[in-house]
Amino acid sequence: VDMSALQKLVESLSEATTTVLDHHAALENRLSESSREVNRLRKHLDQVRMEAMTDALTNLANRKSFDEALDTHCESDDVSSPLSLAVIDIDHFKRFNDTWGHQTGDQVLRYVASVLARIGRPPRMAARYGGEEFGLLFPGETSAQVERLLNEARQEIASRVLKRRSTNEDLGTVTISVGVAQRQYGEDSFDLLDRADKALYQSKNNGRNRVTVASLSSM
Ligand code: C2E
Repeated sequence: VDMSALQKLVESLSEATTTVLDHHAALENRLSESSREVNRLRKHLDQVRMEAMTDALTNLANRKSFDEALDTHCESDDVSSPLSLAVIDIDHFKRFNDTWGHQTGDQVLRYVASVLARIGRPPRMAARYGGEEFGLLFPGETSAQVERLLNEARQEIASRVLKRRSTNEDLGTVTISVGVAQRQYGEDSFDLLDRADKALYQSKNNGRNRVTVASLSSM
């Protein structure tokens, strides 16, 4: 046996083994780094997704997620369970903004939103629909139930005299006008929203600070 050849062979085998082991360790490191990165991105994505569905000022759902939820509910053919919708508008909000400025206007939006958020817990949904307009979705509830509930909320909102934080001046009271509609059989989200909007318009025309329930449309 050529001892030196054997020794060389053992040495080169051992070197190769070390190389493979090092390589393996490096791969393992990179793998765990990658999976940490994936976790980080996943969390970030969840957060971005959440933000894309939320109104930043009020923390309520935004119009996009409200429309999606409304569509989903209206696609269902379940007639055993009612669905009601409320649209809410802050009375004379523009006047308020013009008098006290946008920062105070934003506080008024947050005030109304805080009351609506309490009402709109799941399975209900509360959203900021537009500038000073909000939407509430009531799965499983009739327009009569929703009318009662929103009359209470309306009174609660109007019961507080707000203060301007910077100067402590009285801002007076905030009132809301509301339109409520209960989904009719087969009605799509567009028509349901339209009836609620018309009821809101009636509330405005009849002097504001009130809740109006939409009449049924002839279909
Ligand atoms: P915010 O200013 O972020 O306040 C959040 C919550 O902290 C309030 O919820 C209330 O529970 C408490 N809070 C904050 N500041 C005061 C205070 O000076 N006195 C008292 N007693 N509690 C305070 P809340 O009441 O549901 O209000 C929600 C949001 O509505 C507020 O958010 C603010 O943006 C607006 N808001 C409510 N009341 C007033 C008011 O009188 N003046 C103004 N400018 N904004 C108000």
